[in-house]
Amino acid sequence: MKGKVINMNKPVTFSIVVPVYNEAEVLDNTYERLKSVMDSTGETYELIFVNDGSSDDSIHMLKSLAQSDPTVKCINFSRNFGHQIAITAGTDYAAGKAIVVIDADLQDPPELILDMAEKWREGYDVVYAVRTKREGETFFKKQTASMFYRILRRLTDVDIPVDTGDFRLMDRKVVHELNKLKEKNPFVRGLVSWLGFKQTAVYYERHERLAGETKYPLKKMLKLSLDGITSFSFQPLKLASYSGIVLSAIGFIYAFIVVCMKLFTTSTITGWSSMIILQCMFSGFILIILGAVGEYIGRIYDEVKDRPLYIIDGKYGFEEQRQAAAPQRHIM
Ligand code: UDP
Ligand code: MG
Repeated sequence: MKGKVINMNKPVTFSIVVPVYNEAEVLDNTYERLKSVMDSTGETYELIFVNDGSSDDSIHMLKSLAQSDPTVKCINFSRNFGHQIAITAGTDYAAGKAIVVIDADLQDPPELILDMAEKWREGYDVVYAVRTKREGETFFKKQTASMFYRILRRLTDVDIPVDTGDFRLMDRKVVHELNKLKEKNPFVRGLVSWLGFKQTAVYYERHERLAGETKYPLKKMLKLSLDGITSFSFQPLKLASYSGIVLSAIGFIYAFIVVCMKLFTTSTITGWSSMIILQCMFSGFILIILGAVGEYIGRIYDEVKDRPLYIIDGKYGFEEQRQAAAPQRHIM
């Protein structure tokens, strides 16, 4: 069964995938806005909410939405697995001809889906949303995010667009390929770029989240950045060999100078403090490199263990036969 994506849901034109983690304060608004935008298309659609182990009221709200509205579907994780994995589960279960991933906090305006759909009809397979401006986020978040996208671009050969999150529309054939990728620490936006196909951008200004706080504390941001870099670049590993070469060259030059000074001058060489400084600098440097190697080894370990990517506690609003078709990535 592994590696094969079975989708027995009734086909619809659009699937909207919404990862949800403690978003009870905004869910009703998000649902209303998505609904009115999708109704205005006149096409069939489904709204797939993935509850990523919320500890607030989100799951109860989603369950009752799934009961009262046949377009709403809900996947309930057994615990918090993370934003990227919630997106992956959503795309695994999406039945649409076009699949849109959008945040639950309305920072990604649902109205932009209409522009995305238009580009899709023009023949593009992926339409990603680029943030021209970010509002209501801390200076630190804006600066680190902007730096991260640029560093990642430098480090990798894959054409990963800058200032672009996971808000995008993908054609069925792209999602079909995406679902075959079985990475344990997925960096979805990078994987979609890696897949290729005909991609284009739409631009938007990112507003403040409607309510609540960011669900991406520094720890999660760091994990996402490391996943992005380690999945798409070996450069940090190369850093060890390059810097090793440079540092030993400096060492040899310095040794040569010391010998010359000893032979041709009378000056004595003192330098306990410089020894200590060098000692600290180089051991620090070696540990950093070791840490970088560790990041890759940890991820190899995750792949080898081959645990399921997510565990589902329950699904709501899906058809019966869908449940019978054992999904490929998780254990019920
Ligand atoms: N999210 C999630 N699991 C997590 C963290 C976040 O599903 O562990 C969801 C969250 O509910 C939201 C989206 O991912 O729909 C983006 O999170 P958030 O808006 O907090 O990130 P930010 O916009 O601050 O970067
Ligand atoms: Mg947000």
